[in-house]
Amino acid sequence: MNPLVKQDAEHCFHPFSNYSELNAKGARMIERAQGIYIYDDAGREILDAMSGLWCTNMGYSCEPLINAATEQMKKLPYYNLFFQSTHPPAAELSTLLAEVTPEGLNHVFFTGSGSECNDTVIRMVRYYWNAKGKADKKTIISRRNAYHGSTIAGASLGGMVPMHQQTGCIVPDIVHIDQPNTFGDCSAEEREKLGLERAQQLELAIKKLGEDNVAAFIAEPIQGAGGVIIPPDSYWPEIQRICDKYEILLIADEVICGFGRTGEWFASDTYNIKPDLLCMAKGITSGYLPLGGVMVADEVAEVLKATDSEFTHGFTYSGHPVACAVAIANIKEMQRQDIVTKVREEIAPYLAEKWAELAEHPLVGEARSKGMVAALELVQDKTTNQRYDKSLEIGAKCRDYCIEAGLVMRAVGDTMIIAPPLIITKEEIDLLVSRAKKALDTTLNSL
Ligand SMILES: *Cc1c(COP(=O)(O)O)cnc(C)c1O
Repeated sequence: MNPLVKQDAEHCFHPFSNYSELNAKGARMIERAQGIYIYDDAGREILDAMSGLWCTNMGYSCEPLINAATEQMKKLPYYNLFFQSTHPPAAELSTLLAEVTPEGLNHVFFTGSGSECNDTVIRMVRYYWNAKGKADKKTIISRRNAYHGSTIAGASLGGMVPMHQQTGCIVPDIVHIDQPNTFGDCSAEEREKLGLERAQQLELAIKKLGEDNVAAFIAEPIQGAGGVIIPPDSYWPEIQRICDKYEILLIADEVICGFGRTGEWFASDTYNIKPDLLCMAKGITSGYLPLGGVMVADEVAEVLKATDSEFTHGFTYSGHPVACAVAIANIKEMQRQDIVTKVREEIAPYLAEKWAELAEHPLVGEARSKGMVAALELVQDKTTNQRYDKSLEIGAKCRDYCIEAGLVMRAVGDTMIIAPPLIITKEEIDLLVSRAKKALDTTLNSL
């Protein structure tokens, strides 16, 4: 065993891991990366169809990002935005973000991560309603199976049952409704009907709680970690109508969907959502450095600006200058390559076409995609979509066979998901799909 893997097993706790199981076999050691490929300690090349954790949108070797970090490190490696200070990268990035995010979002609160964005959102929403003299508007409605991060607030907003059960210390005044998951919940014909029904659960929840008690609704435009749940077209317009009708703030958690993932700069553009707050992280720096931010709509920003009290919130690394410099370089490189247009018009349609071919495979009950996220549902019987017995852990098996075939594809139960870098080429999509098919074959043969 690589001695560093042994050291890792002895001293390093990994996120979301079963320690006895992981340490028995040792973690996979990734030593370097190039383009869309990562390389392990045996020098094996693996196509990273997950963009790290949904973040290396511009790939692993984007020179302008590396240069921006180096130069900023030399000039001003750290300063903060507390105590009436700022610095050029924060000022420039906030202006650039106002430009690329949806219309009406012109202010940003910087954080260090997606989880911190969602902590910020809880505090900001309550501060806003207090300032408007509606202190009772406190409850935030979220969705089951949502992922909003791993801090106490993020886990509370999220709808991941194992996370709720484990911590036992959940933020009050958060309520969850169902997600618009069509696979297994309804037939293809009933898709739009289910979308409406799931959206209307929001209205029922508001009526039950009383609209004077509800502060906001938070959702990922496409649920990511929950298994790439792509909403029916009927879903978001109905959510928007309900939020408008009852004066509920709409929070779009675009930590995954932002920065080109869905073929627009933001999924709020893709689905015509008008968020009051919009959370960003991951792709904002293509993952090169940790950074997050909450975009704030003009109407909310005006209220925050008009209070005569202090918003008692912020992080040591809110608007870290090196992270901001990398985000600026990332956005400018995306613009220079016109990557969002390229994804929308060329790469995402190609991925959709090739991915759909996997639906022919005997193990696959559904192959779906939107922009640069996609999923496969593994089933025992294609005609009835009957799942395999859970104890077989068919998704985890398939994930391991993917690695053997030179592909990172993630398993969420028996749902296989990908979110490849936006810079992936058509030839690389062919390679991705052929490796996925090989892993599906191996999985089937192993049964
Ligand atoms: C990853 C993720 C988060 C949490 O971001 P961290 O940077 O890991 O704290 C929040 N929301 C969504 C939708 C995510 O995918």
